[in-house]
Amino acid sequence: MGASGSVDLVIRAGRIHALSADQAVYRSIAIRGDTIVALAPDAGGLNRLAGTGARVIDDDSLTWLPAFYDTHNHLLEATRNARFVPVNRARSIAEMVALIREQAARTPAGRWIQTSNAWHEQKLAEGRLPTAQELDQATRDHPVLVRRGGHMAVLNTRGLDDAGITPSTPDPPGGKLGRRPDGTLDGMLEGGAQYALVHVPPAPIGEQIAGLEASCRRFTAAGIGTVRDPVVSPDGLRLYQAAAIAGRLDLRVRPLLLVFPDGPVEKRIAGIHGLGTVSGAGDDWVKVWGLKFVLDGGPEGGALEQPYASDPTFTGHLNWDPQDLFEVMNAAVAAGWRVATHAIGDRAVRTVLDVYERVLAANSTLAAGTFVIEHAFLADRVQRARAIRMGVHITVQHALLHALGASLIRLWGPERTRPIMPVKAWLEEGAELSAGTDYPIGFYEPLRTVWGMMTRQTESVGVQGPEYAIDRETAFRLAIVAGAKLSAEDERLGPLRGGRLADLVAFRGDPLTCPVDQLRELEPVLTIVGGRAVFDPEGILSATASARGSNV
Ligand SMILES: [Zn+2]
Repeated sequence: MGASGSVDLVIRAGRIHALSADQAVYRSIAIRGDTIVALAPDAGGLNRLAGTGARVIDDDSLTWLPAFYDTHNHLLEATRNARFVPVNRARSIAEMVALIREQAARTPAGRWIQTSNAWHEQKLAEGRLPTAQELDQATRDHPVLVRRGGHMAVLNTRGLDDAGITPSTPDPPGGKLGRRPDGTLDGMLEGGAQYALVHVPPAPIGEQIAGLEASCRRFTAAGIGTVRDPVVSPDGLRLYQAAAIAGRLDLRVRPLLLVFPDGPVEKRIAGIHGLGTVSGAGDDWVKVWGLKFVLDGGPEGGALEQPYASDPTFTGHLNWDPQDLFEVMNAAVAAGWRVATHAIGDRAVRTVLDVYERVLAANSTLAAGTFVIEHAFLADRVQRARAIRMGVHITVQHALLHALGASLIRLWGPERTRPIMPVKAWLEEGAELSAGTDYPIGFYEPLRTVWGMMTRQTESVGVQGPEYAIDRETAFRLAIVAGAKLSAEDERLGPLRGGRLADLVAFRGDPLTCPVDQLRELEPVLTIVGGRAVFDPEGILSATASARGSNV
């Protein structure tokens, strides 16, 4: 990349960590438009490029890194949550009902009321989900959908009626309706039931874009430059595109389009061909990652080889028939799609590897990086070796173990909680890994992800599986540069170098050397995505505008 000619921005700093394999540390970086032009090991090394028009950030108290890439972050879900009833504030079912009642008072009768899904019943005095009858105490005039995480939901009676769910409604594929011993409904929807049976009309597009902008601001304030959104509908993809076209998308998005496990296989395949897009389509802002399959449930429904600790008659569930999954994936990869599969239980991990093996055998010329497993909570040495042999990329999310550790111990038992996401073993054995959060289930701050992978600390059940902790440099690489490979964008994202996108985050204090526990509190002071400040509360970059031309 030619480094001559004028540039738009020169940064001189205490340290600029490129996060390259050679652990290069620079003191200055030059940016033109949205792209890095050059880096230099000394602060004055790029002065010749500053020219007359360049802005200069000259602050050796700052440490810079490439912006974070969260490879599993439900950005659209977070956006919806921001508009919904914040039941995460409730500490009892009565408080939850009161919050929904307040919203009902402001909402025309008959219109759907939804709650944020970013909460957990562990935090409620009752330690359980509410029932339809309890939600009826908030309102009988509005259908209410209380979502919890991605795999559980509860409807009130009016919601069951409006969704057309009756005691004679069969359980949909990959999901279950909660029933009392007498067969009547308690309002609970487990697994994919909420997606298969409940259809709430979307908000106007302008409102949705404003919501998306607000949630992007929270993520850029944490230093995130790119998120891979693991569950997106065609409407969701259009929302991302509309926001990008309007210039109102401040971070890069890599959407995964969800494939449902219902209907005849030919129809599911036709649905994929009818999406009108394919992996890699788009631009640097919105680029389609691939397809998403959800093979098992969350901690309540993950498919285990051995029965649950909480229920000796239950081993979780597979949402897909393996033969159907093979046929659909086989058609998808032949059409150029990358595929990612949610699998948390050991039985789900084994099953998806069986399917990947068959798809691989049937398609000899697949691009590297075609197959991904999301989470892969339980993967022993045998399954790890299979995944590595097939080149399957694994995305890990310490935030899940952090938030769900107590539930997992109760449901799966302590022996199956300790080795969840064995990051160190995966890496030592040669796996391709990248890190994310699965927000909104747990936290979204990427420095907490780094801290978590270094400590294996959880919210309420202490350290789990300390032998799977990794060193800081590796943790940073998983949280920042590993995503570039996952989305086949090594040319544009990854360790800092000329020709790559100018996505950077600055800290006062060096996250690569500060005490480990400080990583939980350290916050960025400036985030730049595509050469533009997207988070700059101190006005560091805007202050350079007045100095334009005077810093030669
Ligand atoms: Zn997820």
